[in-house]
Amino acid sequence: MKLKYYGTGGGAGIPEIFCDCRVCRHAREFGGKDIRTRSQAVIDDKISIDFSVDTFLHTAFYGLDMRRIHNLVITHAHFDHFLTQDLFSRAQGYESPLNVYCTPASSTKMCETIDAREKAYAEGRRIKTSDFWVDYHPLEVGVPFEIDEYRFTPLKAHHAQGVQSVMYVIDNLKEDKHLLWAHDTGPFYTSAWDWLKTYEHVFDFVSLDCTLGRGELITAAHMDIEGCYDTKEKLRSMGLLDDHTKVYLSHIGHLLDRTHEDLTAEAAELGMIPAFDGLTVEI
Ligand SMILES: [Zn+2]
Ligand SMILES: [Zn+2]
Ligand SMILES: [Zn+2]
Repeated sequence: MKLKYYGTGGGAGIPEIFCDCRVCRHAREFGGKDIRTRSQAVIDDKISIDFSVDTFLHTAFYGLDMRRIHNLVITHAHFDHFLTQDLFSRAQGYESPLNVYCTPASSTKMCETIDAREKAYAEGRRIKTSDFWVDYHPLEVGVPFEIDEYRFTPLKAHHAQGVQSVMYVIDNLKEDKHLLWAHDTGPFYTSAWDWLKTYEHVFDFVSLDCTLGRGELITAAHMDIEGCYDTKEKLRSMGLLDDHTKVYLSHIGHLLDRTHEDLTAEAAELGMIPAFDGLTVEI
């Protein structure tokens, strides 16, 4: 199976629009892997993890074809992960719904937007051209759900209050592959570790939140590179990760003060690899 990273930046992306830091200046000058758009990754060209404000850019410039993707698995409703307004063109000519999997708290804005549209149609304030076809599947932490051959188990992420952010353990049942997708989260909650203690596989792929610079764990809602390393080593000590596991860093912020080249060298010493926009990982 494969996972393609489309957006690997933190909430602000790199370069942040108004920022004049070294990393943002470097990204403007050299482009390439130092440009980081907001979160999105696609599994086997079929399932999108998150649907951020930059899905438009991924469609326009990165070759993403959302017409072929019928399932969105959402971590949480921050704009750099889930922009509900862009769902509305998913209307005409489709034979199946767009399935959106997210927690009830993260669905609020989507449901409000749908209701507002429906109300506007009913009151004649807006012309209805076709049915807007989204099926919402509410998630419960710890309760797995399946999409084709993939089983997703949402675990509570250590992130902002109110949005019920989750990370995902993803099992490809056909190929016997196992993934951990952990964005946005600070050091994992005990409840997530408790669930992981019962997990009976070794991960083939792990993607960790590396938003902050070293030692900047002032906010527990994200991790720095040391937090990622500690998480990786804890997974190893629990037998959930070994030398074959590919450990990637993503949701990378300019606050790290690392260009892609800087971060690649630093992460390599710790057994991890920074992702970049457009990277495909074979798992
Ligand atoms: Zn984020
Ligand atoms: Zn900056
Ligand atoms: Zn967030």
